[in-house]
Amino acid sequence: MKKRTAKEVYTLSDLQVWRRSKSDAEPPIRLGLLGDPVAHSLSPQMQNAALRDCGIDMQYARLHIRPNELAEALDLIGELEFAGVNLTVPHKIAAVDFVDEIDEEAKQIGAVNTVVVGEGKLIGSNTDGVGFARAIRTEFSVDLRDLRVMLLGAGGAARAIAMQCAQVNCERLVVVNRDVDKAKHLVAELHPRFAGPRVLGPVARIEAVPLDERALRFQIGNVDLVVNATSLGLDPNDPPVLSATLLAPHLMVYDTVYRVGRTPLVQAAAEAGARAANGLSMLLYQGARSFEIWFKREAPLDVMRAAL
Ligand code: NDP
Repeated sequence: MKKRTAKEVYTLSDLQVWRRSKSDAEPPIRLGLLGDPVAHSLSPQMQNAALRDCGIDMQYARLHIRPNELAEALDLIGELEFAGVNLTVPHKIAAVDFVDEIDEEAKQIGAVNTVVVGEGKLIGSNTDGVGFARAIRTEFSVDLRDLRVMLLGAGGAARAIAMQCAQVNCERLVVVNRDVDKAKHLVAELHPRFAGPRVLGPVARIEAVPLDERALRFQIGNVDLVVNATSLGLDPNDPPVLSATLLAPHLMVYDTVYRVGRTPLVQAAAEAGARAANGLSMLLYQGARSFEIWFKREAPLDVMRAAL
């Protein structure tokens, strides 16, 4: 069969004329990632390798969709012959309002990263939390539930990670955000789930903290795992969200930002003597779970890992 690769990036205008142009790809594009930006994403190479390995005659593409275009883009995804899509920055929270149904996990998280299309209906799920927990187990050989966690960020990815921490009842959770009110809001939501007696030392089991050096310096001594779930680091020229002088050798540092090579935070962690990993493992495990939701079959993990 003649194979034509998809364009690097599609836009809303392409979706608007999709049926007429039938796009120009073979196998046909029936899956994709909606984001802004989206060009950096490694999801297409990982998902396309899985599709090929399983003999599924579909292609996964990047769609650059701006925030004000999301509602129309998702409407079109429902009308066209898509099997599903993933959502990334900055659409995960907004997408909750634009799907027809949402599963329990995505509802609790308040964010959608996976949409499956069934009979024209869009059903939203979230695979970031389970992907994250599996990544921590693989990278550091520890269970999330045994850790005191400092989570930087309060957006879609951070909410999924915070809910996962609550679900496994981790030892402690400190939520840090530039807009501290968002961190406080998330902590207020989760507070009842951290009400148990598992307190270690003179610190609260769950609290919100501003992105401020003095507050962070105190907290660093009372956590085991630092997680960056902000978008800082997506641009290689970004400064690390925490500097090496704030980090310490006892820490495990997980940066959800991924790239081949070191992210600014992973570099800072290495300078501080801490163990660190970037978000490739979370990308792999959340993507594998999305694949399982779309096709109701096991994802070919080794093939997906190799593609990354
Ligand atoms: P959102 O847009 O929902 O949230 C962005 C977060 O980043 C907010 O907390 C925001 O803070 C913070 N932020 C943005 N710019 C800055 C800055 N200059 N300084 C400090 N904080 C900042 O994005 P998502 O939650 O969807 O994604 C966040 C990150 O998670 C991205 O880097 C993404 O690549 C990564 N991710 C990785 C995955 C993986 O599989 N590895 C899966 C999902 C996400 P504020 O509220 O103050 O604006």
